[in-house]
Amino acid sequence: AEEVGGGDKEVVREYFNNSGFQRWRKIYGETDDVNRVQLDIRLGHSKTVENVMVMLKEEGSLNGVTVCDAGCGTGSLSIPLAREGAIVSASDISAAMVAEAQQQAMEQLGEGSENIPKFEVKDLESLDGKYDTVVCLDVLIHYPQSKADGMIAHLASLAENRLILSFAPKTFYYNLLKRIGELFPGPSKATRAYLHAEADVERALKKAGWKIRKKGFITTQFYFAKLVEAVPA
Ligand code: SAM
Repeated sequence: AEEVGGGDKEVVREYFNNSGFQRWRKIYGETDDVNRVQLDIRLGHSKTVENVMVMLKEEGSLNGVTVCDAGCGTGSLSIPLAREGAIVSASDISAAMVAEAQQQAMEQLGEGSENIPKFEVKDLESLDGKYDTVVCLDVLIHYPQSKADGMIAHLASLAENRLILSFAPKTFYYNLLKRIGELFPGPSKATRAYLHAEADVERALKKAGWKIRKKGFITTQFYFAKLVEAVPA
């Protein structure tokens, strides 16, 4: 697989092991020590997770279906997937995120559960194997389109039947620019947010031999995500 630029990736890894971990663990959690903007992002993100679960279940039961959750964060999607009986392989570039996801899974599914996702510290570029379904939510925002192309191609190569991606759409560029200061306040400014045009994502999928089957769009005041489900063309 094409190597994703050292620069961006190292910055992202460092961020999600430190200040970014603290920030996003709160946003993705349930505690009430969040500000208004963070609460709004929490709501938007949870809608994305719900939408993905609907998209996936529409095609039939998830029981026994293999799913790769690339860039799993704190396990927001991996845990509901496991609850539906999916065989989940979850990974993230951040060891802090993976440790949190593992703990959340034990707490929420029960330590004795037979269906705890398999968690691994791994960047998505070095994932291998084959999965029925590959999902990658809110990860592309950390990479420019030039890097995202290779990431999309690699994720598609791991998927047998479907690939689900979410990304922040470029059409909202100006809106987002206004709000980016609020999305990444203080030390969290360490990472840049990259927006992607749906046409660019579609082109990258097409190059990999995939086509878009379903689309979704999730928005709250401070959170925007395009959701696409792709299948082999
Ligand atoms: N997908 C999760 C969700 O929706 O709840 C987490 C989204 S969070 C905004 C982005 C996550 O992507 C972080 O946990 C980060 O560590 C991870 N990440 C960023 N670049 C990555 C890469 N190249 N490979 C794997 N994970 C990556």
